[in-house]
Order: sequence, then C-alpha cells, then structure tokens
Amino acid sequence: MSTEKVILGFLEEVEAWRLLSPQFPSKVGGKPAWLSQKGVPSLSSWSARSVIFQWLFCFRCMRLYRVKIKDEPPSEPYGDYNVLPVSGVKLCWTCGCPGTKTCSRCHFVNYCGKHHQTIHWKHSHKRDCGSQETSGAGKSPFLFPEFELVTEPEEREEKTETQSNETEAIQSNVDETLTDVLAETELDEMALHETEEMKIFQRFKKRIAPEPHQVVRYSRGGLPLWISAEHIPSDEAVPPCSCGSKRVFEFQVMPQLLNSLCVDSTGASIDWGTVAVFTCSRSCSQEDNYSPEFVWKQDFKADQINKDSL
Ligand SMILES: [Zn+2]
Ligand SMILES: [Zn+2]
Ligand SMILES: [Zn+2]
Repeated sequence: MSTEKVILGFLEEVEAWRLLSPQFPSKVGGKPAWLSQKGVPSLSSWSARSVIFQWLFCFRCMRLYRVKIKDEPPSEPYGDYNVLPVSGVKLCWTCGCPGTKTCSRCHFVNYCGKHHQTIHWKHSHKRDCGSQETSGAGKSPFLFPEFELVTEPEEREEKTETQSNETEAIQSNVDETLTDVLAETELDEMALHETEEMKIFQRFKKRIAPEPHQVVRYSRGGLPLWISAEHIPSDEAVPPCSCGSKRVFEFQVMPQLLNSLCVDSTGASIDWGTVAVFTCSRSCSQEDNYSPEFVWKQDFKADQINKDSL
C-alpha cells in the first residue's frame, strides 16, 4: 500500500475580486489570471498556484503551462482589462487570451479571432459598441463558472499491517480462484483483462469515497490514481522537459470537476476520466516564460459508469 502524501483540491465559491491577479489566485474557471506578462500563451479555464509557480491549464485544448511567479504581486488586476498593463499584450474580451484583432468600429475591444468577436457581438457588443464605459463590461458566455481552488491534505485510514495483509491475502485468493476458472475457458485473456479493469476502477472509487468532492489530487513525484487499466502511459511515453530533465507526475484533475464546470451550457465538448499532469523534475524556470508541460488524458471506459455516481 502506498504511503505517499496527497493534497486534495476542492472548489469554493468566493467573491470575484478574490480571484483577480493581485490576489495570486488559485482558481478554476473565468478568465486566466496571468501572473507573468512574458510570452502569454493562448489558453483559458484554469489557474493554480504553488509557492513559486503558476500552472495554467486549458480544459478545452488540454494544454498546460507552468510559469515562475514574480516576487512582487501585480498591483492591478491583469486580464480583466483589454490590455496587460506592462507588456501591452491585448486580450480577447471573450476568453481573456492574447488577441490582436480589434473591433473596427470602436477600436476599443480586442479578440483572438472572428469566432470570439461574434460571441461578444451577439452577447452585448451590438448594443454597446462605441460606448467605452459598457463595451468591456459583462460576463462572457464562453467562460466556465469561476471558483477558488482550496487545498487540504488527504487523510487516510491507518490500517494495521495485519488487516491490510489479510485483505490482500483474501483478494489474491479470489484472484487465484478466478484465474483457475478462467484459464479453462477460451475467453481467459479477455476476462482477466476485465477483472483488472474492475479492480482499478474499484480502487479509484474507494480512494475518493471519503472526499467525494475532490477535483484535484496533488502529489509531486507520486503516482496518479488511474481510473482505468487502459491507456496508462509508460515511462517512455512521458517526454522530457525542454531543459532535458525527466518529467515527474505532479497532479491530476478528477472527473468530478466536470459537474461544476457546467460544460453543457458553454457548448464545449469536453470530457475525461482523469487528466494527469507531468512536469519538469528540476522545476526549471525557463527565464520566466510560460513553459508547456505534459498532460495525459485517460477516458472513462464506455461501459464503466456515468460519472454522476462517483
Ligand atoms: Zn478569444
Ligand atoms: Zn466595437
Ligand atoms: Zn525543465
């Protein structure tokens, strides 16, 4: 039985100002809270903070960036304005990502592309265009609902050696009996695979049962809690960081998050069983630029479940 320490992440509703960049927020949803203005990538939906790093993860494109946080917090909120205050990077009204396109009528609001311009036009800009006071205001329908991401250590039942040994003994008895029976059939391989699949899914359910609302599991250098026996990456499948160092598991995003994102209402077709994130083992800083890290998505097995039952 593994003893690695896991920190769990939960969603909490807070007032919107607490999620603006001067607060160094750890949050899910809304516009990205950029904490560095250099080489700002195009992504949205997520922003988590450790002591020295910010991670930005987009649920739509499954990309993750890591950036070193400056010592000084920004004094004004970034991202809630049209332009980043220091670097002058223009931001899209709809998604909060860099956008070089500007409304040709009012020359005030920016967009990353035609599609997001259309969303704003239909939402309110058709009315507001020309009035600087209201043009930038309003909540974009493209964004996911916004929450603070709070953490607490996972508490695990202290099992005595004997108890867990007994359970394991019973389990392996069951497995052996099963194996004997199955070996006599022509379907043994398939059935064994299904047994393995069931075991992994049961372990997943059991481990999250005490804290069913967890949306993130953080355990740098630990092991992901896989939801399925299929599509687990080998060591070679995880590419090294661009600095040359090996990447290690850092945290995973849980399927429970999908329920809170109201995915259906934003029209985004996103789904996952779990998403595991692997980051540079040296935590290189890449000169304060946003560095892409590695994301591995594991899906639900079709016959497994509906995730509401988790
Ligand atoms: Zn956009
Ligand atoms: Zn306009
Ligand atoms: Zn690195």
